[in-house]
Amino acid sequence: MRKLQILIVVADGLGDRPVPQYGGATPLELAVKPNINSLLRNAVLGLWDPIAPGIRPGSDTAHLSLFGEDPLKKYPGRGPFEAIGAGAELKPGDIALRGNFATVDENMVILDRRAGRKVPENKEFVEYLNSNLGEVEGAEVRFYSATEHRLAVVIRGEGLSPEVTDTDPHEVGVKVPPSRPKVNTPEAEKTARIVTEITFRSHQLLKDHPLNKERVKRGLPPANIVLLRGAGQMVRYTPITERAGIKIEKAAAVSATAMIKGVCRLLGMEVYTPLGATGGVDTDVIAKARRTVELIKEGYDLVYLHFKGTDAASHDGNPDLKKSFIERVDEAIGYIVQNVDTGNLVMVFTGDHTTPVSVRDHTGDPVPVMIAAPNVFSDRAKNFSERDARLFGTLGRLRGNDLIRVVLDLANRVEKFGA
Ligand code: ZN
Ligand code: ZN
Repeated sequence: MRKLQILIVVADGLGDRPVPQYGGATPLELAVKPNINSLLRNAVLGLWDPIAPGIRPGSDTAHLSLFGEDPLKKYPGRGPFEAIGAGAELKPGDIALRGNFATVDENMVILDRRAGRKVPENKEFVEYLNSNLGEVEGAEVRFYSATEHRLAVVIRGEGLSPEVTDTDPHEVGVKVPPSRPKVNTPEAEKTARIVTEITFRSHQLLKDHPLNKERVKRGLPPANIVLLRGAGQMVRYTPITERAGIKIEKAAAVSATAMIKGVCRLLGMEVYTPLGATGGVDTDVIAKARRTVELIKEGYDLVYLHFKGTDAASHDGNPDLKKSFIERVDEAIGYIVQNVDTGNLVMVFTGDHTTPVSVRDHTGDPVPVMIAAPNVFSDRAKNFSERDARLFGTLGRLRGNDLIRVVLDLANRVEKFGA
């Protein structure tokens, strides 16, 4: 059997619900997208539940599922993936927690769980913590800066456990609690001591920091402690290139979003971020398309191209921005189609989840998916959209890692099950 190459293009948060100001149409439906629509001549459409119907996916769990993992069975919690999103490279066994810069008074009573939300000194504080709080009980401790008041902490060492409680009590007016083991094991006890010490030492280090003195002078709450929550322990995922029963030897991803890049790396892909790719609506879509074409021409079995702008516009509740970004994704797809041999390619276009502009967050609705390939029965759809996928999609409704299996099969890359 001749193996075909696979290209998966995801516009993050692509799916939507009827938009009232569009008379019930969606940004995808109204977007002018001649290139995507011209692929419909040789494409089959359907709906994809990234995890399962009604489950609201994160981008991390959705991507794990897209590439064949089952996040319902294997997922270490948000902590490790938030850390990956903040730029950490995690090893199996690492403990990661999400953190907030917060404000406490001299009795360690929490006044503001987010230190006023705006903490532009975030990076400086994180650097300071990294130079002064690098090790606790023999474990390596590393802080990673995230947006606004957020950060992530990674603990690496022997004998650790994620079974510990938060030092963030999720309310104000109470004293910062120590972390406690949730189970009676030496690992949980040790990790709880470490998490407690990180929290209390962060206060010792931050309370007299010059930048906090300046914040107080300006009438802002000092970011004088790091509260931690959601401990998770990184698991090992099997790289897609090593998974039993499928034939993928070389896989690569093109993305500018730290979390997506991290997930793709965990799953065994090489990751590329071309100059001009930003991970936002202002990204250089053609730079990403050009890199994608190069990877296909270099003979990668699987190439993944990710655009984040659709999700950003959706979280902003901006249907016009979402629509115009989809039109730019269409330009990128046009560039790719003109520059590769589509007769040798199974090409998927979908989202990693639905992010309706009316909701401004991810929902559990299925996303429209199209698979363009030389060997599929094409549907009667003329406009790739949530609606046409429902009206004409003969692929039906796929669930979780069904999608990648169908794609691998169309590309003749699956081993036979049975004799
Ligand atoms: Zn997403
Ligand atoms: Zn999102």
